[in-house]
Amino acid sequence: MPNRTAALVDAFRNAYQAAPSGAVRAPGRVNLIGEHTDYNHGFCLPMAIQRDVRICWRRRDDDRVRVVSMEQQGVVEFALTTPIPHATDKASRWADYVKGCAQVLQDAGVNLKGCDLAITGDVPLGSGLSSSAALEVASMLAFLAAAGASLSNEEIAKLSQKAENTYVGTNCGILDQLSSACATEGQAMLMDCRTLRLTPAPLPSGVSVVIADTGKRRGLVDSAYNERRNQCEAGAKALGVLHLRDVTMHGLWQAVARGRLDATAKRRCEHVVAEDGRTIAAFACLRAGDAVAFGELMDQSHADLRDKFEVTCAELDGMVAIARALPGCLGSRMTGAGFGGCTVSLVRDEAVAAFVPELEKRYRAEFPTMTPAVYVTRAAAGAGALAL
Ligand code: ADP
Ligand code: MG
Repeated sequence: MPNRTAALVDAFRNAYQAAPSGAVRAPGRVNLIGEHTDYNHGFCLPMAIQRDVRICWRRRDDDRVRVVSMEQQGVVEFALTTPIPHATDKASRWADYVKGCAQVLQDAGVNLKGCDLAITGDVPLGSGLSSSAALEVASMLAFLAAAGASLSNEEIAKLSQKAENTYVGTNCGILDQLSSACATEGQAMLMDCRTLRLTPAPLPSGVSVVIADTGKRRGLVDSAYNERRNQCEAGAKALGVLHLRDVTMHGLWQAVARGRLDATAKRRCEHVVAEDGRTIAAFACLRAGDAVAFGELMDQSHADLRDKFEVTCAELDGMVAIARALPGCLGSRMTGAGFGGCTVSLVRDEAVAAFVPELEKRYRAEFPTMTPAVYVTRAAAGAGALAL
């Protein structure tokens, strides 16, 4: 049994004086390209990362749920009533992700059973690699296993997003949860956020994916994120469609010529429309094994996110610039919602060993108050049961 799972089983025994019946895992994700497109019904190209949330579970004879996390203090206990009350103190707010999953599963008609849960995760919290989606998807799997029920991975992703939207109150798209629930090992996937169709494609041989956490936490991200969403919605309305997915660059420019969009709306829409095109082109690059062209599209994506969508910051721009100047880097961009969090770079395998420490060193020199972290990752499998 891997060390992390063994430690989790110990934590479960310590908390509940019994052995768990089973365990599940759900990975974090990194989006290679296709940013701020998911809520516009467009395309993105994520993969699951080799970091995950794991949950041991054991069914109880009553309708109570107890939950502990190795990354948090205390036991949170609640009954499977409906509605399930939210946390009343800040210290137990993390468990709202778990409660939200129980709530939406019950709302969907699943007959849940009481259970004891122990959680551990090595997806860094709040850095844009989707520890929240990993926690939701893993919670869904644990509740379903304890209840002897099952749902498709796509359904689990949709309900996880619903838990985050309606119970936790974060207005996220489907990208994070669908990546965690439905990824394929060794593959990135073109995600059509309208149909939820996933088309896997392997990363080109000879290159690695390197994630760099700037250490900058997204302060006012919720309001800025919601503002971008509203601007996209308003742009779509001005262009006579429901979602920017249905706009072409030609249609956009015609509308601009007729004065239907102001300068800000034009820039926001231009990013989204171009990013959809870049994402499909990047997928074609994967199919053709063309890592160089893929890297160029990553660079273009970052430029638009900086200049047109305006969701980068000095730390993200700095990390990307440093990465690109290092040998073997084929492309680099911010990943996730922006305003902080992580970048993702495509680096030739033979250059990775030198790239990682050098990126960290140069970034620390430029941003001495920040604590960066660099992770090299392969494409991991999507969520599922874990052997005990
Ligand atoms: P991200 O999804 O980018 O990591 P979010 O702010 O969306 O950031 O979600 C992070 C939150 O998810 C944490 O603050 C915590 O409440 C919850 N969470 C994630 N992983 C764990 C864990 N292993 N144990 C407890 N809570 C977790
Ligand atoms: Mg999240």
